[in-house]
Parts: sequence; C-alpha cells; structure tokens
Amino acid sequence: MTELPAYWKNHIAGDWVDGGAGRIDVLDPASGEKIAEHALADAADVDRAVQAARAVHLSGALSHMRPIERGRMVQAMGRYLLEHKDEIALTLVLEQGKPLWEAVVEVEGAALYFEYYGNQASTIEGRSIPLGAGYYDFTDYEPMGVSAQIIPWNYPVEMTARSLSAALATGNACVIKSPELTPLTNAWFAHAATAAGFPAGTVNVICGYGHEAGAALAGHPDVNQIVFTGSVPTGVAIAKAAAQNVVPCVLELGGKSAAIVHDDADLEAFENDIRWGIYFNAGQVCSAMSRVIVHESRAEELIARAETIATGLSVGPGVERTEFGPNMGAMVSEAQRNRAVAMVARAEEQGARLVTGGRAPNHPGAFLQPTVVADVTPDMDIARNEVFGPVLSVLTFKDEAEAIAIANSTDYGLVGGVFTRDLDRATRAARQIRAGQVFVNEWYAGGVETPFGGVGKSGYGREKGREALWNYVQTKNIAIRLR
Ligand code: NAD
Repeated sequence: MTELPAYWKNHIAGDWVDGGAGRIDVLDPASGEKIAEHALADAADVDRAVQAARAVHLSGALSHMRPIERGRMVQAMGRYLLEHKDEIALTLVLEQGKPLWEAVVEVEGAALYFEYYGNQASTIEGRSIPLGAGYYDFTDYEPMGVSAQIIPWNYPVEMTARSLSAALATGNACVIKSPELTPLTNAWFAHAATAAGFPAGTVNVICGYGHEAGAALAGHPDVNQIVFTGSVPTGVAIAKAAAQNVVPCVLELGGKSAAIVHDDADLEAFENDIRWGIYFNAGQVCSAMSRVIVHESRAEELIARAETIATGLSVGPGVERTEFGPNMGAMVSEAQRNRAVAMVARAEEQGARLVTGGRAPNHPGAFLQPTVVADVTPDMDIARNEVFGPVLSVLTFKDEAEAIAIANSTDYGLVGGVFTRDLDRATRAARQIRAGQVFVNEWYAGGVETPFGGVGKSGYGREKGREALWNYVQTKNIAIRLR
C-alpha cells in the first residue's frame, strides 16, 4: 500500500498545529484500513483560526492590494495544485475511494477555479449613480471579512477550491473546516496559499467534528460569511447559526435530480449521460442524475442500456483504476454503502424491480455494484430521498405534463435535464423544471463559469460563475456633496 505521512495537522495562523480534540483515524474505503491520523480541532482551535483570519482582514493586507495582483496570487495557487497533482490525487483516492483518473479530474477541476476566479479579481467594479450637480455618488464592493467554509467529503478538493478561490479573489480571509472522513487533501490549500505569498492566517484549514468544530465555526461571532456544502439537516443548523449572528450564508445542499427522456431522444448518446450522471464518483454527487423519467414507449430499451452500462463497469480499488474507462471505485464508507443498500431493499419492498446491483459484495471495502432500479413510482422513498450512491431509479411517463410533474415532485431542486430532439419541448421543460440549472441533451453541461445552486431544499445562493463573487462582497454606497 502507498505510504502517507502517519499524522496530519491543522493549519492555523501559518503554523501546523495539533488539535484540542485529539486525533481522528482516516480510513481507506477500499480496504477499511487506517491510512493516517488527522488532528481534530475543538472550539478553542476554531477561535484561534477565526482570530488569525480576522487579523489578516483588519490589517488590510488583502483588501488594500490591487485586485489584479491578488488575482495573480489566486492563479498561482491553482498552478501549485497542478504541480502537486499526482500526490494530491493519490491521497484523494486513498481517503475517498474514487478511481485515480477521477481524482486527477478533480484536482484539475480545482485548479480551474483558481484560474477562473484569479481572472475575475480585477473585474469587480462599482457604478456611479447620477444625483444631479450637487452630488457625486458611487458604489464600491468590499470583502465580507472572514469567510467560513464547511466542506463535504465527496469532493473535498473541488468543493474547497470552489469557495476558497472566489473568497480570496474578492479579498477575504478564510477558515476552512475540512470533512472528517476526507480531511487529508485539504492540506494542499494551506501549502498553496503559503507558496503564493498570502500572509499567514489568510487560509486556515482545520479538521474537526461537525457538531464540535463545525458548529463552533458556524456560530462564531467574528465570522462574517458562511459557505456550507452538505446535507439538508446540517444546512438548517448552519442557517440558524448564521441568523443568530446576522451574517449571510450560502447553502449548497443535496438533490434528487431528474432527467426527462422523451420518445425522440437519442438513447445511444444517453448511455454516456448514465455513465457520468450516476456512476461518476460512485454516484456521490449532489447533482447526480439519480432519477430518469422516460417515456413509457422507450422504457425497456433505456433500462436495457442502463443495465449494460452498469454491468460493464469494473468496480474495485481506486488506486488500480488509473485510466479513464468503464470503472468505478469504492463509496466513501461502509456506512454510506449500507445506507444505499438499505434504500434499494426498501424500494424492492415497495414494488420496484431491481435490474442489477444493489447488494454489498462479500469482501472488505465500501463497494456497491452499479445499480439500476426500475418500475419506480413517484411516491416511493427511493424516488423522493437522496441515495448518494451509484443507484439509478427509472420512472415512466405518458405525456409531457406528467413528466414535469414527476420531475418537480421532490422537496429538492438542484439540477434537472431534458433529452429530446424537439427544441420547443426542451425549452418548455427547461422553463418548467424547478431547479437551479437545467441540462438539455447533456448531463453536467456547463463548468466553473456557469452559476450553480439549488431551489427548495437544495439550498440557496449560487456558487460558480460570476454570480458567486457577490457572496463574498458587500456593496457600499458613497455619496459626496459637492459645493
Ligand atoms: P454533512 O452535512 O454531514 O457534512 C458536511 C460538513 O458539515 C462536514 O464538514 C461536517 O463536519 C459539517 N457539519 C456537520 N454537522 C455540523 C454542524 N452541526 N455544524 C456545522 N458543521 C457541521 O454532509 P456530508 O455527508 O459530508 O455530504 C453529503 C451531502 O452534501 C449530500 O447531501 C450532498 O448532496 C451534499 N452536497 C452538496 C453539494 C452542492 O454543491 N450542492 C456538493 C457536494 C455535496
């Protein structure tokens, strides 16, 4: 097995430090074996990290800098990640379970955020507002100050990159609470910030339990803005903490996103959407295509194609899956895997048909065979609740109105999709699907440049794209009386 450093520390005010709450074991989900220990922050560590970030903010070191210079430093962080791509990707595989090639995709995706937001740093401009000859009035954008960023385990590198790059580009100092299950790779953000020349205390990275360090960070009175990516119950707790301190927060929560597949859709091309939409990262993607709502006339053909894709994926340790291809790694933990298995079993009890997969293999590791469940109806638990695993639910519809109604029948609203050759039909669906983003004829179309976020229980606020920049700044209006 690849050897990692045995013990990883938190990064506070430029120092690598132990945690007041001790240590946590980090496990390889492909084997269940311990691969390292990580320091665990307590509330006192959180306070030190917030004070370090606040000191940087109050010093003006970030906000007084010419934005184009700050943007260059943000871009340098992205280059640093690429220079260390191999070690970050391998560590990511060992802590998270995904295939090595997917880990490389994730690190490259993370670097792209720093490139994109580094470029945007100098584009945040105010406007002048005419008030007549006696006044000169203009707006300015100021950084919020201390940005607290609470990260989930499914894409620990990309999720941190997403918020950190935009927050730094706009001149904020940050405290990152890395996920307990996958804390190791976040260390590279601290290294990257140091290498790029950011003052100590600009990027603090701490791992700790959600109920302890996470809650202490979300409720800290000197935090000025919170970005949270994770589950709905935690999002509700974060929103309450933010409200208590009267600070804004962005909530990027879960989803139960649906693709509507019409009778004229190109099902051969759709195989690729199944491959990426539900089996990439073993389905542990907030915007996964976890439901397909297909016209009844094409249902059996689609189910057969989905079965072919699912059974064609080789499932096993991520370190052995180095090249892009038909393969899938472990889920993040046996607990997550067992939860997915139980949800499939419940769907069968409720009348769904298990086409393939759905069972835990009889060997160690958090593996689950790629799963297809057919004859799912909108009232079943599996049609309403996020599995967060490689489980595709197939439902059918008779007419367009029914398809939209089924797509919109969950509490979530993160993304949606429509597959058809008919532009009018696609446009109607795009307007009617209740979601923050709609894909037409390609699941996951878009990129770091396109705004992303949910409606309903999928959260509020947008990350990615220019929209995200406004999370990290506040508008100041300056009115000058001329005499
Ligand atoms: P989670 O809510 O359990 O944990 C997310 C983070 O919150 C972790 O760092 C955790 O330590 C912390 N946390 C837990 N309790 C806390 C508390 N009381 N106060 C403060 N912080 C606390 O979610 P998870 O299981 O890590 O992630 C999976 C979920 O994340 C899924 O629902 C998935 O859909 C969602 N997700 C959403 C997006 C998105 O962009 N919309 C992206 C990735 C994942």
